[in-house]
Amino acid sequence: MKPMGALPPEFAGQSGSLTIAGQSADDWARQAGDTPLFVYDMAIVAARIARFRAAMPAIDLHYAIKANPHADLLAAIAPLVDGLDVASSGELAHALAVKPAAAISFAGPGKRDDELVAAITAGATLNVESEGEAARAFAIGDRLGLAPRMAVRVNPDIELRGSGMRMGGRASPFGVDAVRAAALVTAIVGAGADWRGFHIYAGSQALDPGAIIETQAATLALAARLADQAGVAPPLVNLGGGFGVPYFAGDVALDVERVGDALAEALATRAAILGETRFAIELGRWLVAESGVYLTRIVDVKQSQGETFVVVDGGLNHQLAASGNFGTVVRRNYPIAVAARMGQETTITASVVGPLCTPLDRLGDKVALPAADVGELIAIFMAGAYGASASPRAFLGHPPAIEIVTQS
Ligand SMILES: *Cc1c(COP(=O)(O)O)cnc(C)c1O
Repeated sequence: MKPMGALPPEFAGQSGSLTIAGQSADDWARQAGDTPLFVYDMAIVAARIARFRAAMPAIDLHYAIKANPHADLLAAIAPLVDGLDVASSGELAHALAVKPAAAISFAGPGKRDDELVAAITAGATLNVESEGEAARAFAIGDRLGLAPRMAVRVNPDIELRGSGMRMGGRASPFGVDAVRAAALVTAIVGAGADWRGFHIYAGSQALDPGAIIETQAATLALAARLADQAGVAPPLVNLGGGFGVPYFAGDVALDVERVGDALAEALATRAAILGETRFAIELGRWLVAESGVYLTRIVDVKQSQGETFVVVDGGLNHQLAASGNFGTVVRRNYPIAVAARMGQETTITASVVGPLCTPLDRLGDKVALPAADVGELIAIFMAGAYGASASPRAFLGHPPAIEIVTQS
């Protein structure tokens, strides 16, 4: 038997039928008309946002839409956040459908000319990733007769400790190295950009509040130093995010209140040049991961060489992350349950595998479960972020998963 992560608090205490947003998993599957499906409970997203607001009342909250770009989810989340962060013209179009351009920022290396045209025409902020990109944006702005709104994305000389995915402190395709950032700011302000400030993102999926507090303090200091060097105050500093969620056994949920208290203290003594600056934190998974449940039906239960395999109708084609093939080095189990048997005693050790013809298609590895029959639903939790849109859905030709966003 191998351990699995803890169920999100909204589901942890349940017994009998798994209930998502007041409705049983079976009812959701009936409503969908087929399996597999994702259900995203917007009340859980709203609760996470409320918790952030209480912990960090003075900080703007941005949603990084790549975590879950479903149109209904975006429409529901947009009024609850101050900004949307996008990384392609496709995401930009989705964001513009639900939020004014002034609240949208566009990051990502390799923005094509047509993407720069779309962003500059709309009036979204470009998080400029290089000197070359800035030059292309100005050429396009001249042609359009528009001053691009620009922030400079800095590749910080800071690393987010314990981060699942380190994005700072080394050579990187993301942002402009800190040593060159002030010169770029001076150049773009001189060239007439609508100057928006800094975007400084140091990593992702951190659960240690101490690491986040340290990184935020270093980020504030870096922003102040760069602003002093450039001689202009930034209207906004996007401090990045990196708030993690507890996917695996032993993970402890992030103490965001502690992070908020430390950030408030750091801001109270910030450098003079940041006196009028607003600050934002951009979050993806922390806002949406726990809201999502992936429901997949048992097609077969079989034995092989003394092991039990529960074969389900969905797999890494929909939920790559749960198979351990998205952003993790060692495969570990996401929280899993038999949907109709919440709280029941576990009587079998089984591997939950998908229908794809690859041994990578394993949603649960030797997990303890109540015995379940063909036709029952298996629930994989923590499925609200980097699920449907981050999985290779065309691989092996199964239909895409159905996605349902609840009304909160
Ligand atoms: C992916 C990304 C995010 C969101 O990361 P999460 O771990 O989902 O919070 C935020 N900012 C940038 C720049 C990103 O690339």
